[in-house]
Amino acid sequence: MNYIILDLEWDGAYFPKINRFINQILQIGAVKLNENFDVIETFDVIIKSSFSKRVSKRFSELTGITKEDMLKGVSLESAFKAYNKWANDTDITMTWSNSDIYTVLENEKHLLDGNKLKINKYLDLQKFIQGEMRLSGIECTSQISLLNAAVAFGINVDESLLHNAKADSTVAAELLKKCYNKERFSTFVLDTSDPEFFERYMFKPYYISDINDKDIDKSQFEFCCTACGSPLVLKGKWRQRFGGFSACLVCNACRRKYFANVKFRKMFDSVKVRRRLSEKIKNKANNNDM
Ligand SMILES: [Zn+2]
Repeated sequence: MNYIILDLEWDGAYFPKINRFINQILQIGAVKLNENFDVIETFDVIIKSSFSKRVSKRFSELTGITKEDMLKGVSLESAFKAYNKWANDTDITMTWSNSDIYTVLENEKHLLDGNKLKINKYLDLQKFIQGEMRLSGIECTSQISLLNAAVAFGINVDESLLHNAKADSTVAAELLKKCYNKERFSTFVLDTSDPEFFERYMFKPYYISDINDKDIDKSQFEFCCTACGSPLVLKGKWRQRFGGFSACLVCNACRRKYFANVKFRKMFDSVKVRRRLSEKIKNKANNNDM
């Protein structure tokens, strides 16, 4: 078994097919490490955009990849194929933070026809290193950069070479060599054998704000009077409030008034519902001083 440190470089470009910007992968860089974290092989490929003839100035300055380099690159499909041949099924693949994974998913979804990058076992190296830093008593921010982490562990980095996929990966390998702890490391390794693993992993739950969303079960807006059990009647409308929907309800049988709030939290493959009902208490009681 080997380790792979994968580092992608991408550039935002307007993608007409979906009418918005997309971070298209323009370079895949990776290093393969043996069990002692020595670099044994490298992988480096520049990708030609399938819909854009230029690269942004920022991308070019950051990566050193020019428009001409990009136009001479291979298709994303061929790059993925070559990478999948290079990587072994048993390798543990690492990236610095999971934003690379997000970009891989976005590219697989919009730019490829069912092709997937081979990542069977995955570890977020940033997360692991941050944990090691905290254990060593080194102060660290929540999204520490590779450069700052390397500096914190006393690794010499030629900053001018960073943001080149291969150079970044080499620094990451140095860092790993310094911080590796077998037991703790293994608890960070994720098994990705479920084809939906990464989508699930990257999914951020959110509160549904559109009352007509297909994931909203309208029957959740129905309540019964807590005193007499009669169905409550809606007064006015359900309005978006407190991350959910709120409304005033009334019991036509016993005239009690209620305030209700229903929240729908969208999870990867389910919707969590939280319903709250409280009776509106009249203020009369407070005026009984006499
Ligand atoms: Zn009632």
